[in-house]
Amino acid sequence: MVRKTIAIDMDEVLADTLKKVIFKFNEESGETVTAEDLQGVKLRDLHPQHVESLSNLLLDRSFFRDLEVFPDAVRVVKRLTEHYDVYIATAAMDVPTSFDAKYEWLLEHFPFLDPQHFIFCGDKGVVGTDYLIDDNPKQLAAFKGKGIMFNAAHNIHEEGFDRVHSWKEVEDYFFGQA
Ligand SMILES: [Mg+2]
Repeated sequence: MVRKTIAIDMDEVLADTLKKVIFKFNEESGETVTAEDLQGVKLRDLHPQHVESLSNLLLDRSFFRDLEVFPDAVRVVKRLTEHYDVYIATAAMDVPTSFDAKYEWLLEHFPFLDPQHFIFCGDKGVVGTDYLIDDNPKQLAAFKGKGIMFNAAHNIHEEGFDRVHSWKEVEDYFFGQA
């Protein structure tokens, strides 16, 4: 039997990117933004005066190297690999200085994945897997397979996709409720 394929995004799906963005942003701007402030709002829209320093944050070559992994992500991805061919699809082209850190981060936290299954891309419309788990509504809309929206502060008002709020819910989605 041919195994089905799943592509998984990195930022705000496997990695808690927003947590570090908020921490670094507050440190450099003197603001006191919390995750609650960003429900349905983008940081750059909340503080347009700091857009440049926000962009500079991400250009730090080590920014993506020490992001926290979301709870249960490692365990559930590992379980998925027993039944599906799992790929990592990250729009790394958005931040080309992130390649090394993202690659090393994946090797550290997901050593059981084949690096040949890492896709550093731009538009995920070309990713031909059966499923894509992503927080970005634009990427999910461009994707031609079954898109699954991973809940994130910025996407809470988006509709039209199956939505999961945690890796436990990803597990239930693919394996049924325990
Ligand atoms: Mg993402």
